[in-house]
Amino acid sequence: MINLETPKKFNQLVSQAHQVAAEILRPNSRKYDTAEHEYPKELDMLAAAIDGLNEGGALSGAGAGAVGTNGSSQSIKKDEGGNRNGSNMASLLGLIEMCWGDVGLLLAMPRQGLGQAAIAAVANEEQLARFGGKWAAMAITEPEAGSDSAAIRTTAVLDEATGEYVLNGEKIFVTSGDRADLIVVWATLDRKQGRAAIKSFVVERDNPGLKLDRLEHKLGIRASDTANFVLTDCRVPKESLLGDPEIAPKGGFSGVMQTFDNTRPLVAGMAIGVARACLEDTRDHLQSAGIEIDYNLPPYLQSAAAAEFIAMEADWEAARLLTLQAAWMADNKKPNSLQASMAKAKAGRMGTEIALRCVALCGATGLGEGELMEKWARDAKILDLFEGTQQIQLLIIARQLLGKTSAELK
Ligand SMILES: Cc1cc2nc3c(=O)[nH]c(=O)nc-3n(C[C@H](O)[C@H](O)[C@H](O)COP(=O)(O)OP(=O)(O)OC[C@H]3O[C@@H](n4cnc5c(N)ncnc54)[C@H](O)[C@@H]3O)c2cc1C
Repeated sequence: MINLETPKKFNQLVSQAHQVAAEILRPNSRKYDTAEHEYPKELDMLAAAIDGLNEGGALSGAGAGAVGTNGSSQSIKKDEGGNRNGSNMASLLGLIEMCWGDVGLLLAMPRQGLGQAAIAAVANEEQLARFGGKWAAMAITEPEAGSDSAAIRTTAVLDEATGEYVLNGEKIFVTSGDRADLIVVWATLDRKQGRAAIKSFVVERDNPGLKLDRLEHKLGIRASDTANFVLTDCRVPKESLLGDPEIAPKGGFSGVMQTFDNTRPLVAGMAIGVARACLEDTRDHLQSAGIEIDYNLPPYLQSAAAAEFIAMEADWEAARLLTLQAAWMADNKKPNSLQASMAKAKAGRMGTEIALRCVALCGATGLGEGELMEKWARDAKILDLFEGTQQIQLLIIARQLLGKTSAELK
């Protein structure tokens, strides 16, 4: 039987994450939205507390709901009946709460980040020990390669004499790129061999060959730094290539892409969190304006505002259930590329639409800087864009449903 309750073992995690969101993230939201590029020092203490909880096992390797899943399959515990709710579900539930607080600050949380998900997906034991627990950003996107990540031009050439790879190229839009300890850089060993030759390399942030070009000024999530880099003869030990250095015609690149099956439900979760914040505030505003939301009445017997609110809640719930399904499948080792993209597409669009409709329903209050609604509407947009845009998710879904390859359906 399907059980749609939050697994009991995660209740404590969810309530802790909610408390952090309410007491630390929300009170600092406007401050770091206004002071873009300023380091949110309030997060240091919080990150240390999360590390402590993780080490003590209190969070079951959940990364306290921040960005990475930390990839730990050992943390997956088996429930009765063979049903697993592990680190993917825990991260998702925590994230939803934290993003109810503030998406930008969540993304700025020290030692979390998508780079760790990439490391966990392909690193060997020695690399896991060397890089695990560090703050790692992920650098795939380039000026000429965004949605089509197989088109990257950054090169990696092995210098046999020194046993180092030499990286050259440009990386843009790297979340936490300025603040992280490590940057996981995607580069090609041989452009002629296409996607099979793309590998990821761990570059220390203080490597002299990795030069910060600029930090972006953004529409939303301003508490999170977004960095652009130039790599010029950037040397890394050959042991910094993650996974297998051989160029295998099949499997290598798709293995790296599978990282997204774990991370896309998490980005969907961010949209669910921020949309819930919008809905809760809107409900309060409607109620204080004397508008009653009656779930027992059909839409045509309600005020237009109440009917719209109920429709938005239904849309939110559909996105939430799709996302829970995708995370559950990841925990249960079921192939979930289709569901991960469905969740990301649905939640990304839902988050943007609900945030804007709530702004409109709340009128001047929704737009004013006296409250956070206008900020949430700006923050929501990126969630329909990074980790694959809306259009790219729809393309992936279409390929899966029609049984087409990426070469057959572009
Ligand atoms: C704030 C922020 C943070 C980011 N963080 C990271 C990060 O940490 N690491 C990282 O590597 N990248 C990051 N990115 C990059 C992000 O993932 C890319 O911006 C995204 O993949 C889109 O790439 P693009 O901007 O080059 O757009 P393009 O790929 O040029 O796309 C432009 C438009 O065309 C559409 N489009 C493209 N191809 C198709 C197609 N085949 N069919 C239909 N429509 C299509 C897209 O959906 C989009 O609407 C970040 C971006 C931002 C803005």
